[in-house]
Amino acid sequence: MAQKMQDLWPKVLEELKRQVSPQQFQTWFSKVHLLGAEDDSVDIQVPNTLYKEWLSKSYKGLLEDAFSAVGQAPREVRFTVEGPSPPLPLHIASSSRLNKDYTFENFVVGPANRLAHAAALAVVESPGCTYNPLFLEGGVGLGKTHLLQAICLALRAKSPGLRVLYLPCEAFVNHYIYTIKSGCWEDFRGLYRGLDALIIDDVSFLSHSQRFREEFFHTFNSLYNAQRQIVLSSSCPPEEIPSLEERLVSRFKWGLVAKIDPPDYETRVAIIEQKASSLGLNLLQDVVSLLAETVTANTRELVGTILSLSRFVSLNNCLPTVEVARQVVFAARPRGKQTVPIEDILTAVSGRFGVSQHLLQSKKRTKSVVVARHVAMYLARRLTALSLKEIGGFIGGRDHSTVIHADAHILALRDSDKPFCSILDALEADLLRSCG
Ligand code: ADP
Ligand code: MG
Repeated sequence: MAQKMQDLWPKVLEELKRQVSPQQFQTWFSKVHLLGAEDDSVDIQVPNTLYKEWLSKSYKGLLEDAFSAVGQAPREVRFTVEGPSPPLPLHIASSSRLNKDYTFENFVVGPANRLAHAAALAVVESPGCTYNPLFLEGGVGLGKTHLLQAICLALRAKSPGLRVLYLPCEAFVNHYIYTIKSGCWEDFRGLYRGLDALIIDDVSFLSHSQRFREEFFHTFNSLYNAQRQIVLSSSCPPEEIPSLEERLVSRFKWGLVAKIDPPDYETRVAIIEQKASSLGLNLLQDVVSLLAETVTANTRELVGTILSLSRFVSLNNCLPTVEVARQVVFAARPRGKQTVPIEDILTAVSGRFGVSQHLLQSKKRTKSVVVARHVAMYLARRLTALSLKEIGGFIGGRDHSTVIHADAHILALRDSDKPFCSILDALEADLLRSCG
């Protein structure tokens, strides 16, 4: 709806022009912008409170009619007074909107993100002083955007007069391209170089344009020299961003590069509990463990799975039992992922390694038996819907940490031993084929 509204906005203005005198239009509508649209409400940005009061009192009905005339009838028209920084062009402004849930309070801290979190708090405490720039590095879905927006929200809450801008790098590049066409360089440079804090998400996008990197270099210098805060994020460290010139790489490392790693088991449990409680979802300990054990790729996937579980439970009017959770987890797996009965895995491993199933399921610790048992655990993690606890229980009555250890053991062997790696791949392919 947001994009559709943005496209309709010029038509709404045309419609208003027909309804009011040219003077009225010039006075009241030439300085307002569509800030965004959500569900069935629209947000209009106005220069000051006088506009807000006057438009609400005298022109709200007219605006609603104008939206209706172009085929969109929002339930609510809201007016927002411009912040202290100059307005961005309409299509860029929508990218700078913040998710109000991306706060520090909602961010679960664990060993994998502790440094990034502490640095983000330090930036809010004394912007431009402690870590400048702060560069957050981490894979997809690990909380970079969340922390960046938390910094922005906290800075604005702490000092409402501060000019703080959060923008995905792609939107920044789009604004640059837009400015090449419009020629309004004073507005562009005035906006970015006049900020107290510039927060740019996913700077690997800088690879796309050499000309933009040149502009960005000057923006960076100008802000840095004036001790204004710069915060950046990327899925890789500065030196691995393709095409990034050395002068930018070195600048990005002037402050602190804080890496975010995938959350460990305990942090995943804490994230699940926090998210479930915010959704009013009551989860049994077994369900929490199942989710924490099976959804390990990244936090986004974890949060997505809890949302799916919550939707599933309310749509089907059922309880979030272990069975239901397992269904949801496996429905959310990338397509093409099938599951294999654990008995088949034991049969295949036993055949390939010449170790009887009985030995695989026993507590015997001879080296050859241990490797075969670990392979069975490794395959069970990838090919079954079972939790770590269940896999451990089935293969010799072991606990979940043994399965994690087995998995790490096999991954390490895989990396160092090519023939072993081919045996594993062949086993996995055979098992998938036999169940396909
Ligand atoms: P990235 O920008 O690194 O790809 P996001 O910031 O978009 O990741 O995070 C993905 C999702 O996971 C978001 O819903 C975010 O709120 C959530 N999330 C990530 N890390 C945490 C955390 N430590 N605590 C709570 N939620 C988190
Ligand atoms: Mg992100």
